Parts: sequence; structure tokens; C-alpha cells
Amino acid sequence: ASNAKCTRLTGSLVKQLLDSIDSVLFDCDGVIWRGDQAIPGAPDVINLLKKNGKRVFFVTNNSTKTRKMYADKLATLGFNASEEEVFGTAYCSAMYLKSVAKIQGKVYLVGSNAMKQEIENVGIQTTGVGPDPISGVQIDWANVSLDPEVKAVVVGFDQHFSYMKLNRALQYLCNPSCLFVGTNTDTRLPLEGGKAVPGTGCLVKAVETAAQRPAQVVGKPSNFMFDCVAKQFGLDPARALMVGDRLDTDIMLGTNCGLKTLLTLTGVSTVADAEDHLKSGCPNRAGMVPDYYIDTIAELLPALQG
Ligand code: PLP
Ligand code: CA
Repeated sequence: ASNAKCTRLTGSLVKQLLDSIDSVLFDCDGVIWRGDQAIPGAPDVINLLKKNGKRVFFVTNNSTKTRKMYADKLATLGFNASEEEVFGTAYCSAMYLKSVAKIQGKVYLVGSNAMKQEIENVGIQTTGVGPDPISGVQIDWANVSLDPEVKAVVVGFDQHFSYMKLNRALQYLCNPSCLFVGTNTDTRLPLEGGKAVPGTGCLVKAVETAAQRPAQVVGKPSNFMFDCVAKQFGLDPARALMVGDRLDTDIMLGTNCGLKTLLTLTGVSTVADAEDHLKSGCPNRAGMVPDYYIDTIAELLPALQG
């Protein structure tokens, strides 16, 4: 690998980089698709990487889908992919609860049905999904009924997030032995036309603020996301490439875990953002500078076809 950071990946560099790796981890939104549409050329890139003997993984902070749902979406968009190659934060949260925290009891889940499915799939019961059942004006907030079997609070994307859920999470977390897990810290979800909606990071922050303690974050840039892949497939980080559109999550994860990093410009971050981090000389911003950048992953095609 070159020592120069933030190099445009073109010409013979593409082949050199591909020869130096065995595995590629792709972020999803902004890299292989945008919303419901594949990035043009992305399915060919992934299918050809596999034909060339590379292992490919899909690593997403989006907690609203199960592995099965991602595999179905990938197939619909023309990607050759299996459930086992998908590492989303719904699945990885379940792995964290089961393998790291070894939870004996239930989870109070501020999250989606997909998260409930993944967590229950590893044998852990959940409570809390859907709108909070208690409503009314005269509520004894500090004395709402709690499930004594709850041993962890898990926060992911929840379209039914409410003051009552925030309060219930706080009541559980007042017990210092109650574990606190958050799926990811993405602050905004970008939409087409420069629009955006609040990301899961807003919900995690709200619960952290109330509980006055930090959540254990499972998603990128937490090493746990890569550890999940590495453990199951025996990856050598030095021969793996992380491809992402966000410097603070994807590229940071790659740096934290010793992977090569490639920023693609079809999503959130720009080259100017990366150069700002580089020029700052600030040690904690250096991890957000990618090794390489590219306009779109479609530019990898010629090297894969040749
Ligand atoms: N979280 C949610 C709820 C999302 O909808 C998205 C993108 O669509 C993300 C996170 C970011 O996903 P990714 O890590 O694939 O960019
Ligand atoms: Ca992304």
C-alpha cells in the first residue's frame, strides 16, 4: 500500500490494490445502492469480485432489516449474495447480546420488528417493540410497570420512539447492572434532493442523555462490526478493504481495524471533507482520512473485466 493518504484510485493503482486484498467489505447505502436503487454498475462489480476469488461482505449500520431481508433486497437488485455475507446492526446487536454480553434474561427493545426477529433468533426474548401501550395524561412516569426479567436496553431505529419509551428506558437503566446497547450513531439519514431525516444516533443520544451513561455501540465505527465478520470468516485485516461513503463511520472503522480504506463519492462525504481531516493534522481525525477515493465503485469494473 502507498503511504500517501487520500489518493485518487485510477489506472494501474486499481489492479495493484485488488491484488493486495482477499476480501472487500462494502457499506450499503451510498455505496452499492441509494435507497431502493442500485448504484449503476455496482452489481457487476460485486459479482465480478466474487468471480475473481474475492470474498465480499455487506456491512450496514441500518438496523431496520434482518439478514434475510437484506439478502432478498440484494437479489432483487441483481447482486449475487447470501444471508451469511450480510452484517447489519440488527444481526450484530443480537450477536453482541448473545456472545459478548451473554445476556440471561430479556431485552427492552427500542427498535424495529426486524431487530426483534434477529434478537429472538439467538434465543433472547424482547419486550417493547411497537407503540408504547400506555397513554393518557396523568401518568406516574417514575412508577410505570417494568418487566423484572429485563437485563438490557437496546436502542435502534424506532419509528414509534416516544417520551414514554425514553422514560421506560431510563427506568430500566437506573439499575447499574442493566446493560445499554445502541446500534449506531449516524446523526442524519440523507435522502435524495439534499433532504435528510433524523438518524438512529438521535435516539441513542436521547437515551444516553436521560440515563447519564454511554451506550455500547455495535455499528461502525465500533470494532465489533468487523470482529463479527473476522471471527466467522477468519479474515486477515491487512488483506481486506473497507469501501464506504462516510468518513466518520466506514473509513474510521477501516482505520480502527487495520483495513485498507476506499471512500466512494456516491454518498455522504466529499474529498474536501477528507482533505480537511488530513490538513488538520489532528490525530483523532487522521482515522477519517481514507487511503483512496473513487467517484463510484463502477470505476473498478475495467480492472475486473480485464
Ligand atoms: N440507519 C438507517 C435507519 C438507514 O435507513 C440507513 C440508510 O438507509 C443507515 C442507517 C445507513 O446505512 P449504511 O450503513 O448502509 O450507509
Ligand atoms: Ca453509507
